[in-house]
Amino acid sequence: MAGRAGSEDEYEARKQRSKLYFRMRVTVLLLILVGVGLYAWRDIERRRSRNEWTETLEIAIVFVERQPVSARAVEAAKARTADLATVLAAEMARFRGGPPPFRFTAFGPVGHAAAPPEAGEPGLVSDARFAWNLWRYTSAVDDASGVSERSFDARIYVVVTPPTNAKVKQIEGASQQGGKVGLVEVELDETMVDFALFVAAHELFHTLGASDKYDASGGVLMPDGLAEPELAPIFPQRYVELMARHRPVGPTQTKPPKSLDELRVGRATAREIGWAP
Ligand SMILES: [Zn+2]
Repeated sequence: MAGRAGSEDEYEARKQRSKLYFRMRVTVLLLILVGVGLYAWRDIERRRSRNEWTETLEIAIVFVERQPVSARAVEAAKARTADLATVLAAEMARFRGGPPPFRFTAFGPVGHAAAPPEAGEPGLVSDARFAWNLWRYTSAVDDASGVSERSFDARIYVVVTPPTNAKVKQIEGASQQGGKVGLVEVELDETMVDFALFVAAHELFHTLGASDKYDASGGVLMPDGLAEPELAPIFPQRYVELMARHRPVGPTQTKPPKSLDELRVGRATAREIGWAP
């Protein structure tokens, strides 16, 4: 009898213990869930607050050498980031007041031979794969260049190779729309410094929510891709709208920017990033 009573007590005690463990497990899981939720919410809030323009955004421009390029070109590009900040501050001032929009800190060049990841066709799986590959790539470069991800509102990686063709120099970009990372690949020499920074700014604006102002064939969208849609006659345009990347000089001909002095932010782009109502 005593033994049975003992085993019943043991059974009860075990039941109570397993209930307790169950509650503890649920509590721990709930706490993790709340933690992850809070982190995601704060991350979204932090990214959204970038579009309020009440504080100067801290932007890292990281130069990555896949193959060695002209050291003078890289140094010129690093120095020229200060002028890019000035140009963009003047552009914001045409739409609204407030502190200067961007402070750039240039890093590198760091040697990293691997090709940066390429964005695939838009889609959930392909986007997730790109995000993962981008994270692996930028983590490796950040470690090598001493960039602290947390210290910056956005990071733009300018991946450089030497020109392969003296006449035609390639440049292209990719970024996370509304994210924190942009990529520019450029065949860099001293003639490409300003164009490289122009595309870096283009990619930065994607991370802030701006959309392209050119179509699939590269043609400038009318009128949103024009820096001066009110100009009469309308061609040639005098300036290059940042998200159009080219300046229409006739109904079908366009020219890339030669200098940062040509950079303008059009009203449609200004609206997308919160500079204009
Ligand atoms: Zn773009």
